[in-house]
Order: sequence, then structure tokens, then C-alpha cells
Amino acid sequence: MAFRNFKMVGYVIYGRGSFDQLDEIISTQRKTGAPMVFLVDHYFEGRPLSTRIPAKNHDKIIFVDVTYEPKTSYVDSLAGRLKEEFGALSGIIGIGGGSTMDLAKAVALMMNNPGSSADYQGWDLVKNPGVYKVGIPTLSGTGAEVSRTTVLTGPTKKLGMNSDFTPFDQIVLDPELTAGAIVNQRFYTGMDCYIHCIESLNGTYLNEFSKSYGEKALQLCRDVFVKKDSWDAACDDKLMMASYAGGMSIAYSQVGVAHAVSYGLSYLLGTKHGIGNCIVFDHLEEYYPEGVREFKYMVEKNGIDIPKNICSSLTDEQFNNMIDVSIGMKPLWENALGKDWERIMTRDKLRRLYEKL
Ligand code: NAD
Ligand code: ZN
Repeated sequence: MAFRNFKMVGYVIYGRGSFDQLDEIISTQRKTGAPMVFLVDHYFEGRPLSTRIPAKNHDKIIFVDVTYEPKTSYVDSLAGRLKEEFGALSGIIGIGGGSTMDLAKAVALMMNNPGSSADYQGWDLVKNPGVYKVGIPTLSGTGAEVSRTTVLTGPTKKLGMNSDFTPFDQIVLDPELTAGAIVNQRFYTGMDCYIHCIESLNGTYLNEFSKSYGEKALQLCRDVFVKKDSWDAACDDKLMMASYAGGMSIAYSQVGVAHAVSYGLSYLLGTKHGIGNCIVFDHLEEYYPEGVREFKYMVEKNGIDIPKNICSSLTDEQFNNMIDVSIGMKPLWENALGKDWERIMTRDKLRRLYEKL
């Protein structure tokens, strides 16, 4: 048996207001004539955070459009533009939710790798280390701040650039930055973390490493979504650590049924990750009975809308397309259902599940 030997994030700073140390942190990474590029979630354009970004001299701030989840074409155009304008960079700093952090990781990698990011969708295909990269979450839940992947939708698949070069060199965990998130979005992204925990803790890949982080992350999710009656700053602190720990939990295990099914939705319908996971998880009593019961309670308690009947007018071809994408996520199914998963999750069964969504 080969044990996973995984690469982790280089440096971590945590705390309210820690964003203000960014200038000092990146100063050691600055190279003469090579700017720092800040990729910032477009939500922050014209908002106070944008005036606190420590951009100097030839540094560049680019507000990225995350209306849609990151596409390989967007990554390629950003990297192409930066190569043309500057040649070399000192680094890329991603400030935003999972989409922005993934863009930052991918663009940093593409600065030093030839071709298109679509060529590297898969496992361990990236050839060269990217430029120095920093991740600064402004939403909590995806675990993108700690993961070794950057999830991209490409011409033929939705799949990450999974590699040892992918994790950030530095992350800045400042819960203050998440304070402005609207209630529904905060819930959907927070549930990504909750679902990571349920899928990891109920998976066949589980070991004590994943369990230690998964249980802690789950407890933190419960603190904020089950126990608390109103949201406060302490909830932002907790959810940020839940996201981190949830990400660490799946680093040594894998996600499961909700993710495998929601990838199909996202590929075909463009359903975003957090909300897509919620739409699917709502129907997974058969696989995660306790988790789904608690999920429904949290939806109710927090007054959240989960869309329904999103697959009601799809054609056979479209269903098949989603089933192909979903069935392709082999490690997820194996984690969820064991080595014999193909006998358990047939195309028919998956079709019936999609029809319910
Ligand atoms: P997101 O980054 O897509 O952002 C969702 C919305 O929230 C956007 O409109 C954004 O502008 C807005 N937003 C961000 N921060 C805000 C703030 N502080 N206040 C108000 N609005 C804010 O959402 P997400 O759920 O964080 O990320 C989902 C993405 O992460 C997907 O693309 C998914 O594929 C990816 N993901 C990656 C990993 C990984 O390991 N790399 C894991 C899970 C998900
Ligand atoms: Zn997820």
C-alpha cells in the first residue's frame, strides 16, 4: 500500500485584521522589476477592502469576474495577458471566495507552464512550479485555501489541476473579510464544508488523520448553523477554521456522493458548487441519513431556499451527459460506496437521482 504524501500550504496567518500584515509578508517575495498581481473578487471593486490592498509601483490589481465558476479559457486569457504585459511576476495574490482562489492558483501555475490550463486538468500533470502565490479567503467553506487542486471547467471536463505545485505558498485567514457575505451565499459555501465532513467521515478512505480534522470541522459547522440563533463575529471566526479543517480532512480522504452528483449539474447547467451540493445533498437520505436530517434542520433554521426541480425539463441526452461526468469521478464513488461501487451506483440509479433534483 502506498500512503499519500501530500504537499501542504507553506505559511498560514490567522486572525482578525491579519490582512493588514500582507504588505510585510509579501515584501520578502518581491523581485526587482517583477510586480505582484492581485486577483480580487469583483464583489470588492469600489468597496473598502480594495483600498487596503498593498499594491506598489508596477503592481496590478485585477478584479475578476466570478459570475461563473472559473473556466480554463479565463485562466489562459489572464495568464496570457500577464505574460505579455510583464513577462515575470513576483507573485499572484488571490482575494475572494473559492472561485477567486482557484483562479489565482491556476494563473500562478500557468505563468510557468506552456500550453493551456486544460492540458493539466487531472492528477499530477503540471510540469513546473508556478510563481509565488497567496490565498486570502473572503468566504468560508470550500477548503480551496488548503487544497492541492484548482477546480476548472474546460472544453471537455470539469476537473482540477491536482498537483504538488498547486497549494498556496501562503494563506491569510482573516475572518473579518467574510463579514459582508449574504446569508444564502454564506450558507451554501458553509454547507460545502459541512458536506465535505459528512462525506469524509462516512467514507471508506477515512483514517484517523481525516477523522481528527473532519470531526472538528463538523463541530464548528454545528456551532454556527445549528446552535447559534443569530450570526456574530465569533461565527465568522469558527466557520473560517471549519473550512480549513474540512479541507485538511479531505486532503487525506475524499469527498463522496453529493460532490460526484453535483459535478454533473455544474458541468451541464453551470450550477455553482455550494448551491449544487445543497440541491443534491437534500436527496441523499439513503447514503447519509443523519447528515441529511441535520442538513434539513439547518436549512429550516437559517431560513434558506434550496432550489428544486432543476432537472425537470432535461432531455435524455442531457441526463446522459451529467451521468457521464458524475460516473467519471471514480475516487469519489469508491470513497463513498467502496470498491464495488459500480455495482451499487448504476447509470439507472443515478438517472433516478438526477430526476429528483
Ligand atoms: P465563489 O467564490 O464562487 O463566490 C460566490 C459569490 O460570493 C460571488 O458572487 C462572489 O463575488 C461573492 N463573494 C465572495 N466573497 C464575498 C464577501 N465577503 N461578501 C459578499 N460577497 C462575496 O463562492 P465559493 O462558494 O467560495 O467558491 C465556489 C468555488 O470554489 C467553485 O468554483 C468551486 O469549484 C470551487 N471549489 C474549489 C475547491 C478546491 O479545493 N480548489 C473546493 C471546493 C470548491
Ligand atoms: Zn466541495
